[in-house]
Amino acid sequence: MSLSIVGARVWDSDGDLDLPAVRDLHITDGVIVAEPPPQAEIVDATGMLALPGFVNAHHHSYDVLAKGLLERMPFDVWALHSQPAYFGRRPAAELRARTLLSGLECLRSGITTIQDMCSLVPFDEQTLDIILDAYAELGIRVVFSVAVRDVAALDIAAYLTDLPTETLAWVQGRATPAAEQLAFVQAQLKRRPATGLRSWALSPSGPQRCSDELLDGIAALSQDDNLPVFTHVYETRVQTARARDLYRASGGSMIRHLADRGLLSDRTNLVHAVWITPAELELVAGAGSAIVHNPVSNMKLRSGIAPIAAAQRAGVPIALGCDNCSCGDTHNMFQAMKAMCLLTGLREPLPDGIDAAAAMRAATSEGAGAIGRPDLGALQVGQRADITLIKLDDLAYVPLNSATRQVVFGESGRAVQTVVVDGRVVLRDGVATTIDEAALQAEVAELMVGFRRDFAGVVERARPAVQPLLAALALVNERDVGVSAQLTSGR
Ligand SMILES: [Zn+2]
Repeated sequence: MSLSIVGARVWDSDGDLDLPAVRDLHITDGVIVAEPPPQAEIVDATGMLALPGFVNAHHHSYDVLAKGLLERMPFDVWALHSQPAYFGRRPAAELRARTLLSGLECLRSGITTIQDMCSLVPFDEQTLDIILDAYAELGIRVVFSVAVRDVAALDIAAYLTDLPTETLAWVQGRATPAAEQLAFVQAQLKRRPATGLRSWALSPSGPQRCSDELLDGIAALSQDDNLPVFTHVYETRVQTARARDLYRASGGSMIRHLADRGLLSDRTNLVHAVWITPAELELVAGAGSAIVHNPVSNMKLRSGIAPIAAAQRAGVPIALGCDNCSCGDTHNMFQAMKAMCLLTGLREPLPDGIDAAAAMRAATSEGAGAIGRPDLGALQVGQRADITLIKLDDLAYVPLNSATRQVVFGESGRAVQTVVVDGRVVLRDGVATTIDEAALQAEVAELMVGFRRDFAGVVERARPAVQPLLAALALVNERDVGVSAQLTSGR
């Protein structure tokens, strides 16, 4: 299958960032090639901007139906209302529809690769198969990881007092033993091996949610199969306080603990790292690990401001994620890029190294690095052909002064016209070519009857825990954890 995209300005991080040069992109068998292939399908992209497909390096597909349902919730309260464990088994049709919906929304914002850190409920092959098959049906690239944890309790559970027994059981949750989860993940790597658009990553949910046995098992799998690892690290002050209490042998450092367990390497991606210290950033840089920044969810969940400019100065690669739909309400990389630049300005009163070009690199080449795919994230000969075409007659680009700045600061996703994944057009003139979107929307509307009912049940069960959670949070907020990531609260 061959394709020639002709007439577009082609964005290149080493080229003219304001007015990228016009050049044609030729594609054969999913790869960008130098010469026009014979009998190629021609895509006229005159008046358009071609961008490398974005890598959404942190995504959870499970709660896309909860978009717009929650706000004004700090992380721990939000978790109680959004985590799949609290919703129990979902209908097969819902698993498929939610995966397609989240993937489609990603495509519409120019995302061609998703790192889906997915919590399987129930933890079985049938659930996994429905989700992987939906991604294949849509034709989007997925780096899939099964989220594992054998400490089921909420991060804040240790700081709670006076909870009713039933509510405490709800907050504590139930965990599957480490060995069982490791065996499951290992079996899936063999049963559904990486192929075409699908590859694998490993995801201990967070160090504090995993026993040493589980972390050691993940480290061994990562090493043996050369798999990237994505794990939530220092997202909140509570998690930071927890690290100070749990990892005394490692100086109270979650990063040192990961290193002690063989999990700080150039395959490791630290998701969030909001409360990381300067000394820990040096460790991360030395190990060649990356940070996946999720500015929108960090803001919405009141988690804090990640030290992204400091991470960049330390030499840590930075990828970008859009995180959950229930704490960001959209899978939109343009919002993430803009927030990355603006939020950094709140931490750094003087100009720093985070500009629009840095945000673009985070969404493209550095995201590709995070998933271990140097053949993605740039539109050069030899790269896989993941390409987004943007209409430059959209008012966001009139007049066109700087393609890079106007994409980062002015684009909403509205001007995304065509998306190509691995040389295949999967979105043409804004319409998905692989699935029937109208049928999907009708199905989602039907499924929402059951989802809303069950969501209301989750809200009811969570209700007695909300005030105790907020009280515990207030206490933890008073605690000095040796680092600051919030503008208020004094520390
Ligand atoms: Zn996450």
